[in-house]
Amino acid sequence: MAVDSVLSSPLGPPACEKDAKALQFIEEMTRNADPVQENVLAEILTRNAQTEYLQRFKLSGATDRQTFKSKLPMITYEDLQPDIQRIANGDRSSILSAQPISEFLTSSGTSAGERKLMPTIREELDRRQMLYSLLMPVMNLYVPGLDKGKGLYFLFVKSETKTPGGLLARPVLTSYYKSDHFKTRPYDPYNVYTSPNETILCADSFQSMYSQMLCGLYERHQVLRVGAVFASGLLRAIRFLQLHWPQLTHDIRTGTLNPKVTDPSIRECMSRFLKPVPELAQVLDSECSKENWEGIITRIWPNTKYLDVIVTGAMAQYIPTLDYYSGGLPLACTMYASSECYFGLNLNPMSKPSEVSYTIMPNMAYFEFLPHGHPNSPGFTRDSPPKLVDLADVEVGREYELVITTYAGLCRYRVGDILRVTGFHNSAPQFHFVRRKNVLLSIDADKTDEAELQKAVDNASQLLRETNTSVVEYTSYADTKSIPGHYVIYWELLVKDSAYSPSDEVLAQCCLAMEESLNSVYRQSRVADNSIGPLEIRVVKSGTFEELMDYAISRGASINQYKVPRCVSFSPIMELLDSRAVSTHFSPCLPHWTPERRRC
Ligand code: AMP
Repeated sequence: MAVDSVLSSPLGPPACEKDAKALQFIEEMTRNADPVQENVLAEILTRNAQTEYLQRFKLSGATDRQTFKSKLPMITYEDLQPDIQRIANGDRSSILSAQPISEFLTSSGTSAGERKLMPTIREELDRRQMLYSLLMPVMNLYVPGLDKGKGLYFLFVKSETKTPGGLLARPVLTSYYKSDHFKTRPYDPYNVYTSPNETILCADSFQSMYSQMLCGLYERHQVLRVGAVFASGLLRAIRFLQLHWPQLTHDIRTGTLNPKVTDPSIRECMSRFLKPVPELAQVLDSECSKENWEGIITRIWPNTKYLDVIVTGAMAQYIPTLDYYSGGLPLACTMYASSECYFGLNLNPMSKPSEVSYTIMPNMAYFEFLPHGHPNSPGFTRDSPPKLVDLADVEVGREYELVITTYAGLCRYRVGDILRVTGFHNSAPQFHFVRRKNVLLSIDADKTDEAELQKAVDNASQLLRETNTSVVEYTSYADTKSIPGHYVIYWELLVKDSAYSPSDEVLAQCCLAMEESLNSVYRQSRVADNSIGPLEIRVVKSGTFEELMDYAISRGASINQYKVPRCVSFSPIMELLDSRAVSTHFSPCLPHWTPERRRC
């Protein structure tokens, strides 16, 4: 029931007193976006005044925006790499941050084929938790009664390593789930998960998924929302159910636990509620054995009100599949975050995915925006460097690249995300996530850019030399029709002597060689997470890429400026390519991957 009007919020009537405080906080922050930003910058610059990094730019203790903007350059990860390497190697002096770097967060963005290492400080956990604490109060405005049941969330930790200097390096969510902030969170009736902590904290992805699924099945009637961080993760869970339902229902029928789940803490915690429930096993058997899995989510979890998964950005490719499995349940994209910094939340989480906008919370970091687009547009003059715009000054309808200055010591750091301003909540702008710069292919957490794809094709095509064959053109496609999705690379070959055309085996080895050349996030997804399937090469008839060009020109492309698209997704183009395919080849085995980073 809504609390009384004294606590009411312009966002809507809060569900409880705690929610009222959270909504009040959102109102305060968004009403005062500009002064909050000014304070955040001053606070960061004051705290970090003595760091080596700020000293280099001779701020001389200034904490105002003007001096900061005139003296600090905008940077990318590559600019920071020498400093980051020093910290990774054990230099504990105040290089980027006055507070000790507590660990590195390994981003899914890569540099030289390895995950980027983002320095973080302990107090950032509080900031992340604060943003999480705002999500349910907003959701409760749109979906009543979420305190009457549970959330089935598939959450995972991944492997972690230590840098040569002894700092942990792990993904931000692994860091969060392993923190006391998560493990000893106070009971909140609006945020109860079916997965016990032990099942989330097991690093073995099979055991973790199996036990989380089993718990979700036992509590099928309590489940009010089903989620994962990204859409690809939820679809992986559905695929897991497709593969393992006979064993899962066996466990439910007998009240035993699959012997493949060996983790003692999972076994211990599951033993507390495992019991034979033959009627439940019967229902699940009957649903899962049907040929047609359309609407399976609501058939198994009939009280599900929405799916909580990010389907904006690269994940939009999964919307039709999620609609199929859920019978069209609403898809809620609740937040926008990264390893560098958590940015903000969706104040209207039940909006259609195509209309989702995120409100950046001005207390999370200092945000600037690099106008994105045509070099002649404002902010891009040939003589002066582009001018960065403050959070409160962005213009509706324009696109910007996000640039952040964080408490952990990133200064004017380009995140690489392109955002479009859709409107304002109070004085805080709201952004549509347009895309990540330079990403060609993405299935799960992987992000492959054009240069990486080119390198992979170059390396693989070396194997064709013996047969006097070369790759004359190529393009690619992220195939997400099957789960897990996989990369498809279309190759047009020039076979100089048809007596020696490359064998199926050689082309399969080319698939593997491409995989070996792709970055470590790709290989980890293939090997450890099983979230990407074997890479496929489709060889197309000679002349296909010329037809592709003719097609593009018939649709208005300029002959002079035509470039082969290195990634395609437009159906008529795919149909053209597929109709010209003469053979298909798959990677015969997994590429190499270990949690250890290659030394740079
Ligand atoms: P990572 O640092 O590996 O956690 O990746 C962060 C990146 O994931 C962001 O910079 C975005 O490109 C993407 N991302 C995070 N949240 C969202 C979202 N809600 N919608 C679209 N893309 C997102």
